[in-house]
Formats: sequence, structure tokens, C-alpha cells
Amino acid sequence: MSTSFSDLGKLMKLAQSIDIRQLAELSEKVDLEELVGMVSSLDEGTLAQMTQFMKKQAGNGKAPEPPPVTGDFYDLRSTFSDRQREIQDTVREFMETHVQPIANDYWQKDTFPRHLIAEMQKLDLLREIFHDDGTRTHDASVVEGIVTMEMARVDVSTATFFGVHGGLALWSLVLGGTEEQKKEWLPKLLDLDTIGAFGLTEPKVGSAISQGMRTTCRKEGDTWILNGQKKWIGNATFADFIIIWAREEDSGDIQGFIVCQDNPGYSVEKMTNKIALRMVENGHITLTDCEVEESARLANVDSWATVADVLRRTRAGVAWQAVGCAMGAYERSATYARERRQFGRPIGGFQLIQDKLVFMLGNVTAMQTLCLRLSQLQDENRMRDEHASLAKVFTAARCRDTVALARDLHGGNGILLDHDVARYFCDTEAIYSYEGTNEINSLVVGRAITGQGAFV
Ligand SMILES: Cc1cc2nc3c(=O)[nH]c(=O)nc-3n(C[C@H](O)[C@H](O)[C@H](O)COP(=O)(O)OP(=O)(O)OC[C@H]3O[C@@H](n4cnc5c(N)ncnc54)[C@H](O)[C@@H]3O)c2cc1C
Repeated sequence: MSTSFSDLGKLMKLAQSIDIRQLAELSEKVDLEELVGMVSSLDEGTLAQMTQFMKKQAGNGKAPEPPPVTGDFYDLRSTFSDRQREIQDTVREFMETHVQPIANDYWQKDTFPRHLIAEMQKLDLLREIFHDDGTRTHDASVVEGIVTMEMARVDVSTATFFGVHGGLALWSLVLGGTEEQKKEWLPKLLDLDTIGAFGLTEPKVGSAISQGMRTTCRKEGDTWILNGQKKWIGNATFADFIIIWAREEDSGDIQGFIVCQDNPGYSVEKMTNKIALRMVENGHITLTDCEVEESARLANVDSWATVADVLRRTRAGVAWQAVGCAMGAYERSATYARERRQFGRPIGGFQLIQDKLVFMLGNVTAMQTLCLRLSQLQDENRMRDEHASLAKVFTAARCRDTVALARDLHGGNGILLDHDVARYFCDTEAIYSYEGTNEINSLVVGRAITGQGAFV
């Protein structure tokens, strides 16, 4: 029988649609020549029946729906109270609805989306953590951890904005402020009507700030005169409650002050060219004979000990940022591994990709469980410096590993902001260096476990 052009066309089409890899797999199971011979000898009716049967079989054998992607592999959520779960859901919804759609855009614009503050006010989150008088709710640290994790899971800049305002600035007032100062400022801070910042680091002194603070203060009558510079101060460009730490010219004592944008001699410039947390506005503050009334001095500050206390209490928050960031990077990677196909199948089907996902998930799970325990210790008033520092060291390092794998797993897309992991990759670098670099936090733990300080 001669082959027509139409038959040849059909054959060509068939050949193009054949997946060579699947054909090779089939040839390992059956004799292809025998199979083709058998099929070609069938009449049309039997062939149609057989095709229908095979389609049905193939349908029955379909792979089951893959399980949902989740970065909570050990079901941490099941250990939360109903209230904590509600808070988690609220923050997740807020982040996915209001922040996710704009995060990359504002990151690129190097600007904090101020309209988010009004949306955050509706959540009233700080009142789940602090009472009106500045004391803490019974599970404040766990709640703070959940909130921070959920924020950072979508965007670390948002978590940092929240941590600087509701952690560093608020704690400075709570620990160092007088009753009158708390009465005046606490309600406004808790309601996010006034935004806080925390000015400690200086251009020439970072890690060694406890020993080498250069910003000075001196009292003239009822006014304090401040001189110096502060670098890296988060929220400082728009905050109106800026805690400034300074060393007294005569005694060398550390003092804290509440400074506002309109204090004479105060100026701030937005820092640019950052490659991490670009949505956070970091300010470079200059104080030139800056005048601050005695009533704005934090009169209950006990020299450096108060600053150290503030940093100790907020450090767990940074560890939770690392947890959230790694969680977001893992979840995006697990999703991408299902969607992205190479060599005729999803890349999640390759052993080397699965290995990366498992490594990432192991990191995330270890970080979560460590931080939950840390926050429980903090709520029980049993958390020591070295507990917080160990969590910061461990989570920042594991987060770095995790986001690097996420970037890698996304191939070229991993360096595009569109897929979010590039943002996580960069933001992790800030987590690694702020609130005590990983080296400094290692030294804190090292001192505790050996009894020997190795800072200098
Ligand atoms: C995005 C971002 C936001 C920030 N926000 C704020 C803020 O709101 N308020 C604020 O006050 N500060 C803020 N900081 C500053 C931050 O706390 C400092 O960057 C940090 O303390 C490190 O100081 P440094 O950058 O001057 O580094 P340096 O202290 O100069 O350290 C440089 C390197 O030397 C290492 N090193 C230093 N001493 C030792 C030692 N004894 N042994 C071993 N290694 C050592 C460090 O670990 C680091 O690797 C922010 C920083 C960043 C990046």
C-alpha cells in the first residue's frame, strides 16, 4: 500500500509530539517493534476501544495533588493559643494584601510606603504586646515573634520598621523614661500616631559604641546641648520620637534624650545606595549644638546598662526576622520547584533540587523552634544576653544559607526582584549586621560559655 502525503503529514506531526525520554522509558519495558506490529494489525473498532481503555487507565494513575507548600513543617502553629493564631492570621492577611503587591516597587524606589502606617494602625498590634502603662502582656515575646516572623516572611523591611518603632524606641522609653514621659508618649507610640527611631550607632563607632561613643551632651541651665552624628538610624527621616544616646562631657555618663525633628540644631539626611532593606529609610543624623529640654531627658537611664537592656530585649525580634525571611524564601522556592520545568519535568523532580529544599526546610524548622523557646524564656523573664545572642547568631547564619539556596534554585530568575528571593537575599545582609553583628553576638555567647571576654 502506498503512503499518501496526508499520512506522511500525520506521521511527521506524531513524531514531533513524541517525548523521546518517555519513549526511551517505554522501550525498557516493552518491545517497541512488536508493539507497533501488533497495533497496526488491529482493526479500527478494536483500536478505538483500546485507546479509550488506556486513557482511562492513565487517568486513574494520575499523580495525586501535591501537598500545600508550607514553611511550618513541624506545625508550630498548633502550639499557639487561639489569640496568637488570630494575630498570626491578621498579620499574614495584612502582609499579603497590602505589602506583597508593593514590596519590590518600594524596595526599588528606596522609600518607605508611609500609607502602610494607617493600615497598620487598624491592626492595633502593639497593644497585643504592651499594656497602656508600658508593662508587657503575659505572652508578649511570643506574640512579637509571631508578628515579626509573619512580617518578614513577606518583607523584612516592614518587620524592621515595626521592630525599630515598637522595639528599640518603645523599650527605651519604657526602661529609661519617667512616668510623665510615658504618659505623654506611650499612647501615641502604641497607636502609631507618632513614629519612633533609635539613634545609637555613629559613623566612626559601631560595634564598640559602648566604649567609644562620640556624641556628647552638656547641661546649660535647663537645656542640654548635643553634638555629634548618628548613622544608620531606621525611620529617622520621618520619625518624630528619636531616641538619641550621648555621653556627658564631664562625667562620661551615657544619657538618653527624646528628640523631635524640630529641635534646634537637629538635622537628618536619608542614606542612599543601600543594597539591603531599601524600603527602610535609614537616616544620617547631625546634631549641631542641638537643644533638648531637661524634660526630654530619659531620667531613669542607668548609664550604658539601660542601652544594653534595650538591645537584649529586642534581639529576639531580629532572630525572628531571620526566621520569617528564610521561611518566605523556602516557600517561594518550593512553589517555584513545582512550576518551573526543565528537561520535560518540574525541577522539583530532580534529586539535587530536592536536596536543596530539604536543607532549607531543615534550617527554617530549626530556627523556628529555637526562637519559640527563646521567646518563651523571655516571657518567663529567664532570658539572658547569651540566649538572645545565640539565637541571633544561629538564625542570621542559617538565613544566609537559606536565601542563597533560594536564589540559586531560581536560576537566573533568582536575581530578578520579580521573584522576591533576590530581595530576601539582599535583606538578609542587614539582619546579619545589625543589632550586634554576628561576630559580636558570638563573642557574647563565647564569654558566657567560657567565662572569658574576647572582645578586645
Ligand atoms: C540596615 C541597617 C539598619 C540599622 N539600623 C540602626 C538603627 O536604627 N539604630 C542604630 O543605632 N543603629 C542601626 N544600625 C547600625 C548597626 O547596629 C551597626 O551597623 C552594627 O552595630 C555594626 O556596626 P558597624 O556597621 O559600624 O560595623 P563595625 O563595628 O565597624 O564592624 C566591622 C566588622 O568588624 C567586626 N568586629 C568589630 N569588633 C570586633 C571584635 N571585637 N571581634 C571580632 N570582630 C569584630 C564586625 O563584626 C564587622 O564584621 C543599622 C545598620 C544597618 C545595616
